[in-house]
Amino acid sequence: MLSIHNPATGEILAILPADDAASVAAKSRLARAAQTAWARVALQERLACVGRFRAGVVRELESLARTMTQETGKPITMSRNELNGLLARIDFFSAETAASIASETVFDDATTQEQIEHVPLGLIANISAWNYPWFVGSNVLIPALLTGNAVLYKPSEFAALTGLAMTRLWHEAGVPKDLLACLIGAADVGSALLDQDLDGVFFTGSHATGQRIAQTLAPRLVKLQLELGGKDPSYVCADADPQTAAAALADGAMYNTGQSCCSVERIYVHEAIHDSFVHAFVETVRSFKLGDPLQDSSYIGAITRAPQLAVLQAQVDDALAKGARLLTGGKRLSGPGNWFEPTVLIEVDHRMALMREESFGPIIGIQRVSDDAEALRLMNDTRYGLTAGVYTPDAARARALLAQIDAGSVYWNCCDRVSPRLPWSGVGDSGVGLTLSRYGIQTFTRPKAWHLRRV
Ligand code: NAD
Repeated sequence: MLSIHNPATGEILAILPADDAASVAAKSRLARAAQTAWARVALQERLACVGRFRAGVVRELESLARTMTQETGKPITMSRNELNGLLARIDFFSAETAASIASETVFDDATTQEQIEHVPLGLIANISAWNYPWFVGSNVLIPALLTGNAVLYKPSEFAALTGLAMTRLWHEAGVPKDLLACLIGAADVGSALLDQDLDGVFFTGSHATGQRIAQTLAPRLVKLQLELGGKDPSYVCADADPQTAAAALADGAMYNTGQSCCSVERIYVHEAIHDSFVHAFVETVRSFKLGDPLQDSSYIGAITRAPQLAVLQAQVDDALAKGARLLTGGKRLSGPGNWFEPTVLIEVDHRMALMREESFGPIIGIQRVSDDAEALRLMNDTRYGLTAGVYTPDAARARALLAQIDAGSVYWNCCDRVSPRLPWSGVGDSGVGLTLSRYGIQTFTRPKAWHLRRV
């Protein structure tokens, strides 16, 4: 059994029957058998399923948003935003799949023809995080199903109700039940899933779990994609407008209560505008309303996983012990549920865990720098490499800086942004492989080479 708690109140929302090794193996066998027929279904028919799935999301949007908010603590307006954002991703995949997987003739003369065919991988695992369950679940499910794969989908144990709702909508849309199976449970169920005969594993979650999965799969040489955490920096140059940058970066750091893989996790500000930036930043953070995630007015919600409260407190305490100055927040709230005050620290540096380890919560350090070179060195001083941003009106300056950043995505005058048209990937400890964009469709296929000789 898996108990689902509301992190805002501590109440039990549901107790779900969980999978075990035997049920995972049975679902795996059925999915493997169903894949052959699905691969032969015309793309138009698979696209029609996606269209019906989309209609289901639209029809049930409000109740899906409430379910996600209740089990993750995400403010309801942000749950609605995620579901509306999902529609754009569905539309992207629907429009781009045919061209992305069309067979190509790459050479053709009197005797020889060479072709590339994109064939499905086969049976894949989608092991998913809880923080954007519709996004990270769907970045795999939509293109994997459209390209002819079977999927064993393990939503996070902190977003299991959402995972079940998503699976139900796919089945109602016409995706065969055996082809897409939802596995309910925590790490033990994820582990049992890895024991199956898989052709690919697509994981979104923490670096520690990603590393464990890579070690488990290494002897079997299974295709593996890992979308992991980050310690994403932003740099505000001397010529930026401090108020505008502060408003944008406060949102980038605190949106979804700081529990986004691409949350702004550390900020560097040129000394010329440091004080006015910090003043505006703190004003903005103080304006964020913390409260019941089901209320439209709430901007800061609950911390989804209770153990993260201790991680946040330890980062704050470590920073303070090493000389940081606390401007607002700084501690968890007493009472029921998992709550941490939005927290801003200045006079921070890279000796502090706050500036090195993923925080994944509503806390942020702002460090003063004296020039672009120092900012660049600090931004690249990390094991991670998911996103990084620069705020300046000077396009050439931004391009020159961003060209030297080791990250999967770089931002000029924006942050905490994902586009279905662009590949989503990390370097270093932020992962391997990618989702989204045309590459994120092809990644669910294997390019098969055809050498054809006319006799
Ligand atoms: P997590 O690693 O704790 O769990 C992720 C999934 O792995 C869950 O479904 C979990 O049950 C499963 N799991 C745990 N142990 C397992 C094992 N031994 N074998 C197989 N599966 C196992 O991560 P989380 O707390 O759900 O997510 C937060 C993390 O995800 C953060 O680090 C965040 O940055 C990252 N994230 C990254 C992206 C991205 O696109 N790069 C997107 C969202 C979240």
